[in-house]
Amino acid sequence: VISKLPQTGTTIFTVMSALANEVGAINLSQGFPDYDCSPQLIELVNKAMQNGHNQYAPMPGLMALREQIAIKTEKLYGAVYDPELEITVTAGGTQAIFTAISAVIHPNDEVIIFEPAYDCYAPAIKLMGGVVKSLELEPPNYRIAWDMVKRLINNKTKMIILNSPHNPTATILTKEDIDELSALVKNQDILILSDEVYEHLIYDGQTHHSMARYPELQQRSFIVSSFGKTFHATGWKMGYCLAPAYLMQEFRKIHQFLVFSVNAPIQHAIAEYLKDENTYLSLPDFFQEKRDYFRKGLEQTRFELLPCSGSYFQSVAYDNVTDEKDTDFAVRLTMETGVAAIPVSAFYRKGIDRHILRFCFAKRQETLDKAVDRLTKV
Ligand code: GLN
Repeated sequence: VISKLPQTGTTIFTVMSALANEVGAINLSQGFPDYDCSPQLIELVNKAMQNGHNQYAPMPGLMALREQIAIKTEKLYGAVYDPELEITVTAGGTQAIFTAISAVIHPNDEVIIFEPAYDCYAPAIKLMGGVVKSLELEPPNYRIAWDMVKRLINNKTKMIILNSPHNPTATILTKEDIDELSALVKNQDILILSDEVYEHLIYDGQTHHSMARYPELQQRSFIVSSFGKTFHATGWKMGYCLAPAYLMQEFRKIHQFLVFSVNAPIQHAIAEYLKDENTYLSLPDFFQEKRDYFRKGLEQTRFELLPCSGSYFQSVAYDNVTDEKDTDFAVRLTMETGVAAIPVSAFYRKGIDRHILRFCFAKRQETLDKAVDRLTKV
């Protein structure tokens, strides 16, 4: 066959997790917790199955769940989404992102992304015949240079993809970013895809600037979130998309033929679980403790810490340790030191290597202890 994605290999998350498993390393590469989700949530799933909720959910998602998502979104960001027309439950964030891109990107449409960028955006754009326009962000702060974004915009620009809190850099959008973005898209036909899967993982009392907070941005945005990240259950592949009705209508045309609908019993369970807002409001404290603990440990090592304002990722620069390529070093660290990380060059289409590794700290304290202990010997 003629490959539709000749440049694309297997995602780095799959590669590094497989290597970590193969050699028995502590896996701080792919982002997922090594502790279980709430027993109460599991009980709710069991109950839903026992109560016979084992057939298709409605195509856009269980209404009770969409209603809870609407309540949460209004409470947190003041935005009113109509569960009937503007909320769809998806098989995780990745499916929502793919669906949103395929719903609106035509051949030759240009999409602006910021690199390092999560690795699923560019392939989806290319599959639709779209053109990726990327702007590189500079470590350690990875701020968006909005004047450079302005220069990328022309009459083919269809979409800007944002991700806050950001994977892999752990930065967040500020109010200044929002103001710049608003000025830039004003009176322009540009859509926004806002990947907000780490919306609840935000530290030091900072604010998550969801697109949902800003009516002029909200009106042109697909917003993606993830119950896998929020409820420590990445294996359930459960997320959702918010969008104004004119966009959601196109989104659902694709969604219905991509997955039709997603896991019914889990939707029943999450609908119930979301009624207690503490299930998500407790997350910043929960993860900030892990972040602080892990950073304190890493201070004993030769790695240099980059800032972390959100997400469950901590990046480090390793120039003090070696001048190897980040992909080589990540493999060697996994095999020799027994700690797996993600080489950040994987988040650049051109593989730009700034000698930075990304660690996931959504781990039990003893796992973090063991990892730090090994990393101090590097
Ligand atoms: N979002 C996760 C990460 O960045 C990976 C999810 C996946 O492997 N698809 O590590």
